[in-house]
Amino acid sequence: MGPQPSEKKNAEDALKEVIMSKIVDALFGCPHKRCTFPITAKSRQPRVDGPMTAATYIVCLDCGKEFGYDWQKMNVIAPANHAA
Ligand SMILES: [Zn+2]
Repeated sequence: MGPQPSEKKNAEDALKEVIMSKIVDALFGCPHKRCTFPITAKSRQPRVDGPMTAATYIVCLDCGKEFGYDWQKMNVIAPANHAA
């Protein structure tokens, strides 16, 4: 019989891994690894529809989400989601 298409099989496996990683990305959302430098909005009011009232925030360059930033803790304030 003909030779097994092992190379093609490996390529398909690699492609599946890439697709799986993208699915994981989609499930867990953007990893938010590329964000702007913290922006302090001194003049504007906190977003009425926002979960937090922090005046300092960062914006994710990938998905455009805004996250509050705590300068004192030097940490991103996690969105206040409902308890799962
Ligand atoms: Zn993001």
